[in-house]
Amino acid sequence: MRATCVCVWLALAAVGLGACAGSPPPPAGERPAHHRDGGFQNRYAEFEPKGLGELLRWRYAAWRDELPPAPARPTPRVAPDLAFVHANATAGVAMVPAVTWIGHASVLAQLGGLNLLTDPQFSDRASPLSFLGPQRAQPPGLAPAELPRIDAVLISHNHYDHLDEASVLALAAQAGGAPLFVVPLGLKAWFAALGIEHVVELDWWQSHRLGALEIALTPVQHWSGRGLTDRLATLWGGYAVFAPDFHLYFSGDSGYSKDFADTRERYAARQRPEDGGGFDLALIPVGAYEPRWFMAAHHVKPDEAVQVHRDLGAKRSLGVHWGTFGLTDEALDAPPAALEAARKVQGVPADEFFVVAIGETRRLPPRRPRPAAVAEPRTP
Ligand code: ZN
Ligand code: ZN
Repeated sequence: MRATCVCVWLALAAVGLGACAGSPPPPAGERPAHHRDGGFQNRYAEFEPKGLGELLRWRYAAWRDELPPAPARPTPRVAPDLAFVHANATAGVAMVPAVTWIGHASVLAQLGGLNLLTDPQFSDRASPLSFLGPQRAQPPGLAPAELPRIDAVLISHNHYDHLDEASVLALAAQAGGAPLFVVPLGLKAWFAALGIEHVVELDWWQSHRLGALEIALTPVQHWSGRGLTDRLATLWGGYAVFAPDFHLYFSGDSGYSKDFADTRERYAARQRPEDGGGFDLALIPVGAYEPRWFMAAHHVKPDEAVQVHRDLGAKRSLGVHWGTFGLTDEALDAPPAALEAARKVQGVPADEFFVVAIGETRRLPPRRPRPAAVAEPRTP
């Protein structure tokens, strides 16, 4: 018997009835187009999360058709290279740009002399309940106790597979003090309720400087909600992170939209022809995409993920958001093969858009620093 458990977290989010109360928004004419009364909206789609009827239709069909199929093989997993990760963490400006896949959308990114985590999720279930909901198929590639000291945590949105209370509390209690949590608008209150105040809230295109890094929240097509009354009430987004040695992009969750081409255009002035492209690495979801009638508006499938990679003008992309939690109808191990097929169709080489094993570290070439400004010779 498979797929008989309706994902409670999703059900709760999907039947959301309204929006949270909050401070009154400015009049409609003065606020950004993606702000609306009590919440936010996407830029390119008349977007409403699916309702309870559609959720039940999906779950019934999955039960009837015994979806997802059992994976043919477990998600690859390797022992982490702790010696490298920790030496790199304290190397300062000598740090080698590197990413380590912890699982799902959780990545340790080392760049610009700092250690970042994306959407940390270390729990057994991506759910508000410890006994029900999507269960982890593989242990995290790095346990919280194995992490170097984290400088900043980037949260893309508040779905349970991306914002996990136990993981956030563990990070807030790390030796040396809590990291900075960078979150989309509206999520600061969730952290404050946990007693966590070291939080920066960003709107789309806003950025925050941390050491040598500039961290910007960018628009993507998705939604938010953790309970009955907060659907679309807090913002969602991706991140563009600019360090002198590396430019990183992290999409969070997203359907396919023009937002990615817009992101490339927005930051085009930061690229030089000799840099050989835009972002040095993009973290792009390649899993949780079936069935399309339910998922297409808010989760890309692998061929769209390859298009996102091209829209962003990324030099390389790492496929994430697969192989960890069985959220949808495709087999847990389906995304890499689908990604490979999509790459071939679109002419993207294997070393340009790849996946790694859980726990695996990928070291990446740094971009050349901009030369110091050379004084123009004075004319006598
Ligand atoms: Zn989501
Ligand atoms: Zn997700």
